Amino acid sequence: MRIFHRIDDVTICSREMSYVLDFFAESVREFVVAAIPHDLTKAIASRICQYTNCSVYQHGYQHVNRVSTGWCDEFPDSFLSTKHFIEMGKHRLEDLLQRMITGYVPPWNNTGVKTIQILDELGFRVYSAQKNHTMPFRINRDITVDVVASYKPRITYKSFEDVIDEVKALSDTDEEIGILYHFKNVSADDLSKIVRFAKEVESMRDEKAVGGSLR
Ligand SMILES: [Zn+2]
Repeated sequence: MRIFHRIDDVTICSREMSYVLDFFAESVREFVVAAIPHDLTKAIASRICQYTNCSVYQHGYQHVNRVSTGWCDEFPDSFLSTKHFIEMGKHRLEDLLQRMITGYVPPWNNTGVKTIQILDELGFRVYSAQKNHTMPFRINRDITVDVVASYKPRITYKSFEDVIDEVKALSDTDEEIGILYHFKNVSADDLSKIVRFAKEVESMRDEKAVGGSLR
């Protein structure tokens, strides 16, 4: 079992986000930033470039929903310009970060099978999402565990024990397990809970020596 942390919806260098990123860079072995290409600023890109334990995955293009019913999706199979937008986003991230981007996190952890095929064609090799897809392509998938219990009407968090139980239930898998965090509109109190939680995961990993390196 290999565990990593994934921070979603990274765009601007707010005080909150700077604190979170610096914390993860100092306190965890490795973490993934899911960056929204359309909105990622130069300031946060250069901050990310200073971290040696941070991988960047592309998170859609603009994080807009294009379906009227059902689970949100930025690039449903019915949308015809998916390749154009994802490619534009990939180039923008690669320019800002001066590195190849080969990991993709679909907004709302969901997208169509055609889109996954496009990701493969564009050279992506890691697809990180909660919803299970069969992956007939050359892309590796991981499994994510969200620390959030519910997003509406307000964000509530699972207990540390519950998240650990979810992780343990996956312990037989060979796939990587990403612990997923969102930091939009979090209170200082929630932020400190999450920070404590991430530290706990790290100490658990150290105890059980279940760590591994990201591709
Ligand atoms: Zn998102």
